[in-house]
Amino acid sequence: MQDPRNDEPTAALDDLYREVILDHYRSPRNSEPVPDPDFTAEGQNPFCGDEVYLQVKMEGERIARIGLRGQGCSISQASASMMTEVVLGKTLDEAMRLSRLFRALMHGRELSPEDLEALGDLEALQGVRKFPVRIKCALLAWMALEEGVERYRAGKG
Ligand code: ZN
Repeated sequence: MQDPRNDEPTAALDDLYREVILDHYRSPRNSEPVPDPDFTAEGQNPFCGDEVYLQVKMEGERIARIGLRGQGCSISQASASMMTEVVLGKTLDEAMRLSRLFRALMHGRELSPEDLEALGDLEALQGVRKFPVRIKCALLAWMALEEGVERYRAGKG
């Protein structure tokens, strides 16, 4: 039985991918607080105690700033950090499309080279799909973002 608190998936990934993941985990991107956010979102994964908290500032249709705070396993925190990089400057529609792509990747679908490239460093997480219990960790920040976007849109509509 695998101890959910340790990081076998990271250890089992090849060196290049492991480096990218650990780099995001140790130095999360966009970790500055965002003043006066247009919406916030949070996610928890009780399975390994992962938490993410997002603050998003919009400029028209685009994500002008995104702030990430969180704690938990390296997969959840690296994925969250990578997510902030790829959605920054995107429209909400584009961000939601990336979310669907990443979910498809995690569920074992093969993506076109263009789609894989659009996911940036998140490509490094594709080995996680061999560890089904950790897919939730990788998707945590994305699910939080989706929910936040939904609430934001509902509030505006
Ligand atoms: Zn986790």
